[in-house]
Amino acid sequence: MENIVGFFTPILICAIIFALNALLPGRWVTGYVIKPNSAEKMRYHLNGFTVFFILFLIWFLFGYFDIVPFDYLYNHRWYGLAGAFILGIVFTMGVVLPYAPVRKSFLTDLFLGRIENLQLWGGRVDAKMWLYLTGATMLGLNALSFTAHHYILFGDQASTGILISTVLIIYFVLDYLIFEEVHLYTYDLFAERIGFKLGWGCIVFYPYFYSIFLWATVDLPDPQTPVWLLAIYVLIFFVGWILARGANMQKYFFKRNPERVFLGIVPEVITDGNKTLLVNGFWGISRHINYLGEILMATGIILCTGYPTLIWPWLYPLYYVVLLFLRQRDDDKRCSLKYGELWKTYVKKVSYRIIPYIY
Ligand code: NDP
Repeated sequence: MENIVGFFTPILICAIIFALNALLPGRWVTGYVIKPNSAEKMRYHLNGFTVFFILFLIWFLFGYFDIVPFDYLYNHRWYGLAGAFILGIVFTMGVVLPYAPVRKSFLTDLFLGRIENLQLWGGRVDAKMWLYLTGATMLGLNALSFTAHHYILFGDQASTGILISTVLIIYFVLDYLIFEEVHLYTYDLFAERIGFKLGWGCIVFYPYFYSIFLWATVDLPDPQTPVWLLAIYVLIFFVGWILARGANMQKYFFKRNPERVFLGIVPEVITDGNKTLLVNGFWGISRHINYLGEILMATGIILCTGYPTLIWPWLYPLYYVVLLFLRQRDDDKRCSLKYGELWKTYVKKVSYRIIPYIY
């Protein structure tokens, strides 16, 4: 019986997130994506931070009053993973099958999706933003629950590194939720359709794979990582964060107001009279310095757990390397088509793709 409940737990959490996302008040913002057959931009109802906070409160209060143990999600992680897996498949089918094919191959359609955007109740719930909110919230809850398990197991012998890595992954989640609006300007929103990759990816992969470094280390004893080494790992994380957040914010402000100065950086652009590209600040270091930032953040987080010779935690930053290096190539092709000669000028001016002076 307990395992059946464990199986349905992520499904219940996803439903609660959906209800809170739809019912709680939120900010109505205009996005970057243009509605099909129109000049109007899409509108979004954003309240991710509040939704996460309520779920966090439920987790905390249920644990505090002994209704559900703090480490419930850890104890039922395999059943929870199975439940999320099935939900991810059902969601994918539901969001792909009713729509007209866009490619010859059914499997490619299933994987990459058919519709570009799906909104309910005039944008009160946006499928993509709900998916990201669900992934981020479930990841946060998993991280808290997994770490609670470590503390229950080891008490005052618990690892400081595990605690720091959890604080950093929660910071990563909160950072996304606080800047939710900025992500309306990202590749997934304007260039991807909703299929297995996005749907199953956010419901299953995001919360269960991104927590792999905790999954693999919370039942191990404190590796006694020296404080100075932990400080270096935290520094790696924050250098990454500055690169990723800085680049995203600079581009976000530029798209909204091309004149706006960001962190003292006056936008320097190249233009063909029609389109413009930023060529200084974060966008002058490499063409995707934000991807390097994302990889450094993940590396800092997993190193904090204190088991650098264990393969499992490394899978998290390694996955980013594969995802983001491939995505940079795709984005380069897309931008080359969209910007033509202007893109060639940008590539000449900013020649490194991701890692300055290396790649
Ligand atoms: P970017 O934010 O780098 O967006 C790329 C787009 O920005 C291009 O398609 C183009 O769009 C525009 N652009 C590119 N160069 C310039 C320039 N010089 N000046 C002005 N506009 C430019 O990539 P993503 O959307 O992929 O990523 C967004 C963030 O999300 C990143 O920080 C990334 O690391 C992060 N991310 C995180 C993941 C995670 O799992 N944690 C997964 C994937 C991404 P346009 O057509 O508008 O000009």
